[in-house]
Amino acid sequence: MREEHLEREIEEILGLREKREKDSELYKIANEVFDRTTKETLAYLHRRGKIEELYGVISTGKEANVFAGVDSEGKKIAVKIYRTYTTEFRRIWEYLAGDPRIGYLPKDIRKLIFVWTRREFKNLQRAIKYAVRVPEPVIFRNNVLVMEFIGDELPAPRLKDVEKSLEKSDFEELYNFSMRAIERLWKRGDMVHGDLSEYNILIHDEPVIIDWSQATVRRNRLSVELLKRDLVNVSNYFRRKGVEVEDPEKKFRELVEG
Ligand code: ATP
Ligand code: MN
Repeated sequence: MREEHLEREIEEILGLREKREKDSELYKIANEVFDRTTKETLAYLHRRGKIEELYGVISTGKEANVFAGVDSEGKKIAVKIYRTYTTEFRRIWEYLAGDPRIGYLPKDIRKLIFVWTRREFKNLQRAIKYAVRVPEPVIFRNNVLVMEFIGDELPAPRLKDVEKSLEKSDFEELYNFSMRAIERLWKRGDMVHGDLSEYNILIHDEPVIIDWSQATVRRNRLSVELLKRDLVNVSNYFRRKGVEVEDPEKKFRELVEG
């Protein structure tokens, strides 16, 4: 696509032609992280009506940025855009290398990120199949993942953000929710999240588990280690909040042996 045309389409997606200031946070972040591939990918999703507009930045991270947007029908969406350059190449490569669902592993970092994005999309689909509440995946392409927006006007807060306003009984419920999710994923879905924590649970009408990039299947030789990590992290967090938690080691043996 011609450069000029592409730039215009990106401005349209960012709503710049009407109302938005070029010095907004959204524009700044977009300017920093949208490379040519990302722009072309966004333009494609725009033409297909999957992204009408991105109107806000939800989160900026080392590997990915998450934006709030709407599709062509006015439905809210969350758009996770991976950086096509990252210093985390090794970690990503190792996680993918152990995953039996992934065949050929590209040597090119950009293409490796595409595989990483696709895997997160597949993980979301798989988690839903086993009745775990996650953002509904809409579409992925290259380094861009479009999913259900969790929140109302504003994005839903993370458990970490609201912990001060919660009571013991809330923590007990959330602990049970987390343990049920870990168990169901492992036993029925042959799957493990791998980074389950107070940072990756959104508190909405019901709790929603996000950030499925490192999730993998049981056949991955790393899965047992990830399962232990989830059990230990979840137990430690809720124990600190006064919940009488089960022994994570015992639970771990039960799940791995049973
Ligand atoms: P971080 O390194 O900050 O954890 P990440 O790369 O791991 O970021 P995510 O955890 O998937 O990416 O998303 C980052 C943040 O964006 C989340 O903590 C959450 O606040 C927000 N977020 C992600 N997905 C959604 C969604 N579907 N709806 C609303 N907010 C979301
Ligand atoms: Mn996260």
